[in-house]
Amino acid sequence: MGSDRDADVDILIVGAGVTGIYQLYRAREAGYSVQMVEQGTGVGGTWYWNRYPGCRYDSESYTYGYFFSAELFREWEWTEHFAGQAENERYFNHVVDKFDLRRHIRFNTKVASAVWDAASATWLVTGEGFSTRTRYLVAATGVLSVPFYPDVPGRESFRGEAYHTGLWPKTPVDFAGKRVAVIGTGSSGVQVIPVIAPEVASLTVYQRTPNWATPLNNRPITAQEQAELKASFPAIRDAVGKSPSGFLHTHSDKSTFDDSPEERQAFYERVWRLGGFGKIISNYRDMTLNPEANAEWSRFVAAKIRAAVDDPATAEKLIPTDHGYAGKRPPYVTDYYEAFNRPNVELVDLKQTPITAVTETGIGTAAGLREFDIIVWATGFDFGTGALSRLGAVGRDGLPLKEYWADGPLTYLGLMCHHFPNFFFPGGPHGAAGNNPRYSGDQSDFIAGVIDFAREHGHPVIEVPKALEDEWTNMVNEAAYTISPFKEISYFFGTNIPGKAKAFLLNSLGRPKLLQMMETAVKSDYDGFFPAPGTPGTPDSPGATDSPDSTQATGR
Ligand code: NAP
Repeated sequence: MGSDRDADVDILIVGAGVTGIYQLYRAREAGYSVQMVEQGTGVGGTWYWNRYPGCRYDSESYTYGYFFSAELFREWEWTEHFAGQAENERYFNHVVDKFDLRRHIRFNTKVASAVWDAASATWLVTGEGFSTRTRYLVAATGVLSVPFYPDVPGRESFRGEAYHTGLWPKTPVDFAGKRVAVIGTGSSGVQVIPVIAPEVASLTVYQRTPNWATPLNNRPITAQEQAELKASFPAIRDAVGKSPSGFLHTHSDKSTFDDSPEERQAFYERVWRLGGFGKIISNYRDMTLNPEANAEWSRFVAAKIRAAVDDPATAEKLIPTDHGYAGKRPPYVTDYYEAFNRPNVELVDLKQTPITAVTETGIGTAAGLREFDIIVWATGFDFGTGALSRLGAVGRDGLPLKEYWADGPLTYLGLMCHHFPNFFFPGGPHGAAGNNPRYSGDQSDFIAGVIDFAREHGHPVIEVPKALEDEWTNMVNEAAYTISPFKEISYFFGTNIPGKAKAFLLNSLGRPKLLQMMETAVKSDYDGFFPAPGTPGTPDSPGATDSPDSTQATGR
């Protein structure tokens, strides 16, 4: 490899979530030496950290799990169509044990810096008590992994218990008979609210902006359905593999106004009864694209909210007015609106009475102070770039990733970027737009392919050309305003984080385009991905000797 320093490992993977575990499996199967580091003490990523009551999939369980092993698919029996957090965490533990992956994972290890060393064509990755030199660095750090706390005066002064949904403790929280506040009504808030409402003495929901919540329609998987799932493994794998969204929901070929009002009402009622994302995918095909079609469906959902909530004034507060259905990522719920009919549940509209301060005993708004025993912060995440920007990654020519992405992420297929050789981030920004594990799985397959190719052909450095990064990033940014339903108020634009650059963080082009671009790169033998010796970032380039010291690399 033209280097005087050896790597400790071929591949270092950061993050033991759904994406990292699959990348680890692929790397190990291909015969690389591989190490994974994980900040937590267990596997599961999102399903490890978000252990709040009510947390569950809103993708069908059997489309979220892995498809690389027929045996795994057939032996693991999901109990519900949308399985809960504890079961999901058990699944990921089962996978790492079944495939003997745990011995590659170092827990309790947070990466503090990762620096590219051109002279050796390796990354020096360090954290507290940890230092490893790796040939390839794969940051499977997730898009929803850095919890966000709003800067409310006095937040730290609260003397009761306070929890963020994304950092939930392992020991169960005792809500019985407590005065509880939940701040935030995104997908996490609306899952936790109906589950704790029956236990608590009082529940005060602090809502700044309502969301269009529709029924998850979860139910147990029957014995007959289990048998059908097991028998249909290849068909399900292939259908999910080809699906534009990564789901099994069928697409409608009708537009909203093709139907009469009566037919439309009947169609909407059928869509209402579908599981989770069926509300978008199996809806009229123009529902997210045509504003009138979107308003029609939104009116139908608003009528459902009014029917579910006894108090008309509360119902009106729960109906979004700043965006139509799917203008933000819609949550899927079980008995959410019905929770507001309980005498112990109250909604505080922060648009009318904003939070002024958190005190030692409670939450103050323009309407006065309310005292609480527990505050639940369901206030979201620094989406997309949050974890990657905090990795301390420094690429070629000493360029920090945080700086390179200061105005928003620049990516190729949401999995790598120029200036950062041998660095990959499956499941990162610009990658997914549907059932996440399917997109990040596509990306992991691509990454495994390009690394295999580089190994076979003796290329020490893989770096995507600037032109390809520009092409993907520009297309994503343009389509964010044409194809994508999401409005700039969505956290998908980063607008929930004060001071963060406004830039689209999802894949607005969809999975077919992602797969097509991947195929083009593979067919061209990754044309342009392997810088010629002597060019910047390669071991024998000018300046390549100014590299991080490796003498203290202790490895695994
Ligand atoms: P979120 O959707 O970003 O919601 C955060 C909530 O906190 C919003 O209601 C927001 O109000 C509120 N908030 C933020 N700052 C506030 C402030 N200063 N004062 C008052 N309220 C404030 O976060 P999330 O609910 O954790 O969900 C994030 C994503 O995680 C979801 O969209 C989904 O992709 C994923 N998720 C999935 C599932 C699942 O079912 N599989 C479950 C949970 C989460 P505004 O809207 O006014 O900003």
